[in-house]
Amino acid sequence: MTERGAGSGLVATLLVVALVIGGAVWLSPTLDLGDVRDTVVRHDSLDGVPGSGGDGYTFMSTSSSGAPLTWACEERIEILVNPEGAPEGYAELVASATHRLDEVSSFTVEVVGETDERDFLDRRAGPVLLGWADEDEVPALAGPVAGVGGASYLSGPGGGGRAVGGMVVVDRELPRGWWAGVDEESVVLHELLHVLGLGHTDDPDQLMAAESNGQTGLGDGDLAGIAALEDAACG
Ligand SMILES: [Zn+2]
Repeated sequence: MTERGAGSGLVATLLVVALVIGGAVWLSPTLDLGDVRDTVVRHDSLDGVPGSGGDGYTFMSTSSSGAPLTWACEERIEILVNPEGAPEGYAELVASATHRLDEVSSFTVEVVGETDERDFLDRRAGPVLLGWADEDEVPALAGPVAGVGGASYLSGPGGGGRAVGGMVVVDRELPRGWWAGVDEESVVLHELLHVLGLGHTDDPDQLMAAESNGQTGLGDGDLAGIAALEDAACG
């Protein structure tokens, strides 16, 4: 979840507070992880697992042993875009955000097409749904929230699990324009990092900061977090 400052006028403010929509577990009969049990890997904290991660990063969800939950090693994460309510130039915006993530990670994040699906809050195994909505449709967008992102996890024996689907939804009423102070591409990138498995951090220099002052680039903590997810996936 990304929050933006309300009524801040010309002040470039991108507040990033509590998160998410991660942690919900859906089991798909089409997936075989061996002895899959209906174990709910869910955390009450909405912005990452307290104490997880490292310097400048946290994890959205962890196994019972504390390992971060993320996608399979070098997974190709497919994105379906619903263009309804999207701003002008949305395709380039999404392509740029996914490209920036591809450049710094061994996961592949790829837009595979467009859809009219809108079940943002009921994502199961399959492509990540990315779109624009308002708070009537996605209540988590209420107030100064600019976006929400997270993954659906398939849980396995021993409290482990892996991401198999997810969603990114951006507030369609986000103030737009050079004066608005919200970099929408960075909002999408922030939410994609939630999909990947990162929570919020207290470090204000990171894109995954719990509170942000408009930073648009990935910081050292963000990059270390991505590397930690890759270690967990491929180790
Ligand atoms: Zn967030």
